[in-house]
Amino acid sequence: MLRRSITTEQVGHAYLFLGPEGIGKRTTALAYAKALNCQDEDAHAQGDFCQHCRACHMIEMGHHPDVRLLTPETTGGKTVIPIDAIRTKAGENATHPLPLREDAQLKPMEGRMKVYILDPANRPGLQEDAGNALLLTLEEPPPHVVIILISSRPSAMLPTLVSRCQPVRFHLAPYAAVVQTLEEIGGLSPEQTAALAGMADGRIGWARAMACSPQLLTARQTLLSELDRLLPAGLPAALRLAETLHHLALSTTVLPVDEEEDDGKARMTSDRQVRRNLPELLDVLATWWRDMLVGELGQPDRRLNRDFAVLLDRHRARFSPAQLRFGLKTIMQTKRLIERNANIDLALECMCMMILFGG
Ligand SMILES: [Zn+2]
Repeated sequence: MLRRSITTEQVGHAYLFLGPEGIGKRTTALAYAKALNCQDEDAHAQGDFCQHCRACHMIEMGHHPDVRLLTPETTGGKTVIPIDAIRTKAGENATHPLPLREDAQLKPMEGRMKVYILDPANRPGLQEDAGNALLLTLEEPPPHVVIILISSRPSAMLPTLVSRCQPVRFHLAPYAAVVQTLEEIGGLSPEQTAALAGMADGRIGWARAMACSPQLLTARQTLLSELDRLLPAGLPAALRLAETLHHLALSTTVLPVDEEEDDGKARMTSDRQVRRNLPELLDVLATWWRDMLVGELGQPDRRLNRDFAVLLDRHRARFSPAQLRFGLKTIMQTKRLIERNANIDLALECMCMMILFGG
């Protein structure tokens, strides 16, 4: 649909990209910005981009003067859309940062279109001043401007803002499409690809981010090896597993994107870092319990952690299917508790004892 908008010269001035986190909205927005500004005339004529020209390259690096990725910031209860000082052509003096509305009036510096990507567009403050300023721009958009709002929660947006935009809905991708994307990126073993595609659960952007930053894969390796060591379990093993999870969450930066960071304090407290990374690690733990369960139910080929098949076979006899179901449920409940600000150590220790001894 976006490609056709270029070939038929019906590019919209405001789009709202809607869909769950980690599904590829931002990647698509940047690809669209490239297609709009690509200097390869053949690629552009097909609504596509070449990835090699100066424009494509600068957009990829985040340096294109006409393509802006904007993250609304909230400081002291006020939300603003910061636009860094306008990049000038060599030899000119740097101008002061302009509000988006004024910046949008200026002609593109070197591209065909100015593209503003607002991610996330559902910050609470965007219901007020900054949102209203944005609305003014959307009401009379200059012809060379495309604004893309990205949101996983349109219900949290100013309704007048939503109604001005052409909605583009993003859906979860089928398993095969996620596998194909991972294979295109390369660098993963077939077993790792299967494991990652399984954990992605349709979130193709998440899978892509994971494949490009091996941190979660490394953390997963550590966590599953530790489980293997600890599973002849006793009470100390449960506490040690809780410690391992806490430590991994502290030392790993699992995902750079975070949609819900609302306060202006840029520095990351250790509690916040742990709380942000733990859900992904608990997902890894949950796949282990899930795999032991499908193994126990006689469907070992449906396991996600195929690269750990030997370890899975070694441990699954330790638990009954009922215990495994209980364990899986406990892990998912703990994930929700931590997302709702429960005490981290208490929740983790409690969970580890329940999944190793409960049910
Ligand atoms: Zn290009």
